[in-house]
Amino acid sequence: MRYRSLYIHSIKNKFSKFLDLIYPPLCFNCKQKLTEKSILCEKCKNKLNFLDENICFICKKKSTYNGICEDCKRKFPFDGFVSIFKFNPVMQSMIHNFKYKEYQKIGKYLSSFLAKRLEQSKFIYTIDFVVPVPLHKVKRRERGFNQALIISRNLSKILQIDLLKDFVKRKKFTATQTNLSRAERKQNVAGAFCVKNKENVHGQNFLLVDDVFTTGSTISSITQELKNNGADKVFCATLARA
Ligand SMILES: [Zn+2]
Ligand SMILES: [Zn+2]
Repeated sequence: MRYRSLYIHSIKNKFSKFLDLIYPPLCFNCKQKLTEKSILCEKCKNKLNFLDENICFICKKKSTYNGICEDCKRKFPFDGFVSIFKFNPVMQSMIHNFKYKEYQKIGKYLSSFLAKRLEQSKFIYTIDFVVPVPLHKVKRRERGFNQALIISRNLSKILQIDLLKDFVKRKKFTATQTNLSRAERKQNVAGAFCVKNKENVHGQNFLLVDDVFTTGSTISSITQELKNNGADKVFCATLARA
């Protein structure tokens, strides 16, 4: 069986090399031919804007402990936060413009950066479970997949931490957040989530994962729900920060 899967794997490899010859891989952002095995050309790679890891990932001001400063720690219920990229136009197109198959590659590529940064954090070795922020059914139907789940799968694999899929559920449909004020956003998602297996929460530490951090109202609401059910620590990680 193992030989057979190795054989299939090698055929797949040869086939994908053959495809690369006819259709050389293109940069996901500018569509130029790629010379090395990547998903971005050098020029676009240089446009990825890394967030400074020595200042608060939320307010971008003070020095931090677990990624957030004392002020932000008072404002948000989670115990730490790690992000990796500024949400600039390249990041926006990488995160929002792709279909499932393409996003799997993008997600793998971008998650590897996030995993590296998480490995440097003090808290990562205390995490019991990786949990993706759920997408509402209606939105999943529109988009076809949940980006947060793809990122979570990659992190779970690289960091060797168990993934809890469908662990947090959305209770009611929350209208799109885009045009709401900060207060309205908070109201919009408060109490919008529930935990499926409450008995698995008590005393555990979680890493909540999403694609972009904007106001933090969604991850705050989920963090609160986990803590109400006895979670010990909840940390958050996103690919980008708006
Ligand atoms: Zn490019
Ligand atoms: Zn701060």
